[in-house]
This record gives sequence, structure tokens and C-alpha cells, in this order.
Amino acid sequence: MKPLPTEPGTGSNAGPIGLLGGTFDPIHFGHLRLAVEAREALGLVNVCLIPAGNPPHRDTPMSGADHRLAMVELAIAGNPDLQVDDGEVRATQKSYSVLTLERLRAKFGPARPLVLIVGADAFNGLPTWHRWESLFELAHVAVANRPGFAPHERCWPGELAPALADACRRRLTREASDLASAPAGRIMPFDMTPLAISASLVRDLIRAGHSPRYLVPDTVLDYIDLHQLYK
Ligand code: ATP
Repeated sequence: MKPLPTEPGTGSNAGPIGLLGGTFDPIHFGHLRLAVEAREALGLVNVCLIPAGNPPHRDTPMSGADHRLAMVELAIAGNPDLQVDDGEVRATQKSYSVLTLERLRAKFGPARPLVLIVGADAFNGLPTWHRWESLFELAHVAVANRPGFAPHERCWPGELAPALADACRRRLTREASDLASAPAGRIMPFDMTPLAISASLVRDLIRAGHSPRYLVPDTVLDYIDLHQLYK
């Protein structure tokens, strides 16, 4: 019989937990493949999707936080490997990843490996994040390739911002076992199926009167239609 999925922080399984933050405006198959392929490539127990309530690095999302949270819940329904954390949606302050990681570190305890999953575009912008160097004290960072951004082999570390290149030189690993053997502190690139899907593309298609079908789950598409989002 298949064992019941481990609820983060409450189960006996002490393997690494993946954390995937995003605006999810709306969630699409690029996000979902990122979560699934990260789990497999990095040996994660599960991946927790964390929709931003009030993202500091970008314009106000087009859809409200409750809609974006609802779409994430629909998208992951039935997959016990994926979970959702509504902490940022419920919070009143800006959605700084470092604050979320502090909250989750307190929840999971000091020994549990946590892995923050980001795409290459988000990783390149890491030095602009609030207290970005503290992120490595709280979690590992795993970086996926993304179409439109140079593959890791070519851009690392030379083409990164100097401070990020320096962090990569000190923290780089290509072994998933390094993520399991420490609670935080490593940077690991990994490859996923390249998918040139973005939430902006989905929004643009809808705004132009085209269908985003097969770029987002059907349940998400139905929700978008029902609530007349992104028109
Ligand atoms: P937008 O187009 O509105 O900027 P987005 O598609 O980049 O949105 P976000 O919610 O901002 O989606 O992304 C959350 C995380 O998922 C980021 O770390 C981002 O790099 C990653 N990500 C999103 N889409 C992909 C993709 N197709 N391939 C790899 N990573 C992705």
C-alpha cells in the first residue's frame, strides 16, 4: 500500500523539503513541471508552493491573492507530492522570501533541509532580494534552467552579478546528496524540461482573446473563465 504523504514538519521523514515561491498569476505548467522535476532531481520529500501575497519585486499582480491561491490549489489537487502554503497570502506585510524562510525554519526546526527552488531568471535577480545573503543561512537554493536565460554551464559564475558569482563559487554543488546532508547553504543548478511558458504569456493570450488552453491546467482555465480574470 502506498504510504500516506508526509505532512511537512509533522512526519518522521527528515528528507529535504522543496519550497517554490511565486506570484502564480496564474499558475501554469512551467511552474508545475518545475515543482515535479525539482522533486525528482533533488530528492525532495515534497514541494510546497507559496503564492506571494504582496510581491515586492514587481507590479501588483493582476489577480487578487485569494484567486491566485485558489488556482494553485486547483492545479495541485490530487498530487500528494505538491502542497500549498498560504502564509504569504494571509500576511499583511510584503512577501519577502527571507521572512517566509524564517517562519518555515521555525516550523521545521534547525536540522531539516529546506530547498528554495527558483528559475534562472529569479536567481539572476537574487541580489536585489531583501537580505538575500541571509537566504543561504535558512535554505539551500536550487536553480532551474528557463528558456530565454543562458544555461548554467555558460553563465555560471562569470556572467552573474559579482556578489552572486562569489556566492556560487563558495556554495556550488551538483550533488543532490549535499542538499540532504545539511539544512541550508548550498546552491545547486539542475535541468528541467525547457518550457517557454510564463504567466505573462498566459495573461497576454487571454487579453488578446486567445485561449491559453494546454499552457495551464483545465481546472485553472475553468476558474479563470468563471471569474473573468485577465480580460
Ligand atoms: P510572469 O510572467 O508574470 O513574470 P512567471 O511565469 O515568471 O510570471 P512567477 O510566479 O513569477 O511566474 O514564477 C515563480 C517561479 O517559477 C520563479 O522562480 C520562476 O523563475 C519560475 N518559473 C516560472 N515559469 C518557469 C518556467 N517556464 N521554467 C522554469 N522556471 C519557471
